Amino acid sequence: MALRQIREIGDACLNKKCKPVKEINKRTTDLIDDLLDTMYEAEGVGLAAPQVGILKRIAVVDTGEEYQDGPLVLINPEVLETEGEQTDYEGCLSVPGKVGRVTRPNYAKVKAYDAGMNEYIVEGEGLLARALLHEIEHLDGHMYVEKVSGPLLTNEELAELLKEQEEE
Ligand code: ZN
Repeated sequence: MALRQIREIGDACLNKKCKPVKEINKRTTDLIDDLLDTMYEAEGVGLAAPQVGILKRIAVVDTGEEYQDGPLVLINPEVLETEGEQTDYEGCLSVPGKVGRVTRPNYAKVKAYDAGMNEYIVEGEGLLARALLHEIEHLDGHMYVEKVSGPLLTNEELAELLKEQEEE
């Protein structure tokens, strides 16, 4: 188990297009283990390799839903289909302490390879679709803040806003 340092917005690694993975070796499996450890430690639902400074097309996602085989390891992921629309507050471990309102498809179908380089398909709605699309964008050097409508809020500001809306 090893934790890696999460790169924050402004770090050049977060704006680079990542390279496809050709084969799995010890370095790749160590990276996957570290991504998972780092994501859980930071209480995130997803983490992409460029967020720890590695420019490879690898991301992990765990939204707490039941998957076939533990958390999702996405190697060379590709979005096959999207559908619908959802708007919600979204955050990123590389933009600590902030959230912003982002509109995304409500459904996503993604093809990826698992840690054993076996191809699989994952379909998600709601939070899972959001997490998949968010992480895959990291691999192309994009951040959710590019898509935010309105201001970035702190968690306290968001809680305040939601309370006000409830009272209305
Ligand atoms: Zn992110």
